[in-house]
Amino acid sequence: MVSRVIPVDPFDLVIFGGTGDLARRKILPGLFRRFCSGQMPEEAQIIGAARSEMDDAGFRDMVREAVVEFGGGQAAEEMLEQFLERVSYEAVDAKGSGGWEALKGRLRAGRVRAFYFSVAPALFGDIAERLRSFGLADDDSRVVVEKPFGKDLESARALNATLARHFDETQIYRIDHYLGKETVQNLMAVRFGNMLFEPLWNAQYVDHIQITVAETVDVSGRGGYYDTSGAMRDMVQNHLMQLLCLIAMEPPARFEPDAVRDEKLKVIRALDPVDWHHIVRGQYAADDNQPGYRAHVGDPRSTTESFVAMKVNVSNWRWAGTPFYLRTGKALKARSSEIAVIFKDAPHSIFGPEAGKHANVLAIRLQPNEGMTLKVTIKEPGPGGMRLVDVPLDMSFAEALGPDAEEVPDAYERLIMDVIRGNQTLFMRGDEVEAAWAWTDPIIEGWQQRGDVPKPYEAGSNGPEDAAMMLHRQGRKWREIKA
Ligand code: NAD
Repeated sequence: MVSRVIPVDPFDLVIFGGTGDLARRKILPGLFRRFCSGQMPEEAQIIGAARSEMDDAGFRDMVREAVVEFGGGQAAEEMLEQFLERVSYEAVDAKGSGGWEALKGRLRAGRVRAFYFSVAPALFGDIAERLRSFGLADDDSRVVVEKPFGKDLESARALNATLARHFDETQIYRIDHYLGKETVQNLMAVRFGNMLFEPLWNAQYVDHIQITVAETVDVSGRGGYYDTSGAMRDMVQNHLMQLLCLIAMEPPARFEPDAVRDEKLKVIRALDPVDWHHIVRGQYAADDNQPGYRAHVGDPRSTTESFVAMKVNVSNWRWAGTPFYLRTGKALKARSSEIAVIFKDAPHSIFGPEAGKHANVLAIRLQPNEGMTLKVTIKEPGPGGMRLVDVPLDMSFAEALGPDAEEVPDAYERLIMDVIRGNQTLFMRGDEVEAAWAWTDPIIEGWQQRGDVPKPYEAGSNGPEDAAMMLHRQGRKWREIKA
């Protein structure tokens, strides 16, 4: 299968925070891969803009190192040099006037103009304002903003209002890189491109849904930020919420930005407040071999959660009675992100009680090894009567799509190309983000009011025992966290 690469229009992309961690690890290597694939036109220009004083040559050296270190692909040295010719740098002060005129001088007329805000959210307003006042941006320019988009409803509203003073909603691209993952888009293709699943995609046939984003990494190295956030703000409000929306939403009339985002918004608005019996917070503890969460964040009394598991109800006709179980955490047993749709048992077993229970499961793996597995029940081969066994129908993209599947763009590079194309489908709209905070805030406030202390769990485990108990009480079981 040959992948089709359609070059985008010529563009100028300015990366504010071009010397930062995110730019070096994700944005610049991703752009290089798009360059190698032929998607970036000859005339494309990438301009790093950040606080450090540096010339073009210095920035190119930094980009070269970043591409080599963070996986620019197996491209030849020659390709890298050609890519670097399109890269330049301007030192700008987001809070002052230094560098803005020079940056403007580097931009060229008649091409797509995009500004990536890969800086702390506190600088979004300053940069947006200067883009307008120095005349760098016009009504066709696009701005890309990174997470975290606020820390609660109030701050998200303030951020939206700040951006709205300078840019129209159609110009604002709020990144949630989970939406750029191949499998997440495939989820929509599977749901809305096939007749097979959609008729069963409701409370009548689906027993429950599990969404797990498990990480093995702990918070060491970024404890300062993480401790002000926690799993609820850092993962649930954005990534898990977006996955839930795509699973639960009604079919949009068209695969178009506002049609898709309208349906996602309806899901968020249909979420019930979470009962505190149905939510478990955890924090990884120290053991003989390693420090725990509190040592990593440098606060022996921290009550921030590094794990959260909860039962969420989507109160609408489609989903009433089918719970969604969400779970995410740091320092867990394996790095694994998965959505699992667990169907109900057949209403009557013609094979008798000894055949046991056999529910179909559609498991959608986001990482590692993006792909899908459908567990179906068949007869165990061989003589000896009718014994049933569950086997997976496995669709690993890497295998099914052949060698080209390895070239599936990473989430960031796909999303940046969508910005250039002007396609907002996979970006969060302001009202979606606010609705997600409106649902998240009372949960966090409830913890604060009750003085809730997270349950300790062992690093490298499945999280606190209480999370397993929560499902057990409802006659269900979490799926195994495995890589
Ligand atoms: P970083 O601290 O590594 O880099 C910050 C960048 O901002 C630097 O290039 C710095 O020069 C620039 N900067 C700071 N103050 C400035 C000023 N006054 N004027 C001009 N430039 C200034 O940060 P990062 O980790 O790259 O994160 C950037 C953004 O991306 C943040 O909003 C962060 O929350 C978000 N984010 C980062 C990651 C990640 O993996 N690093 C993941 C998701 C989201």
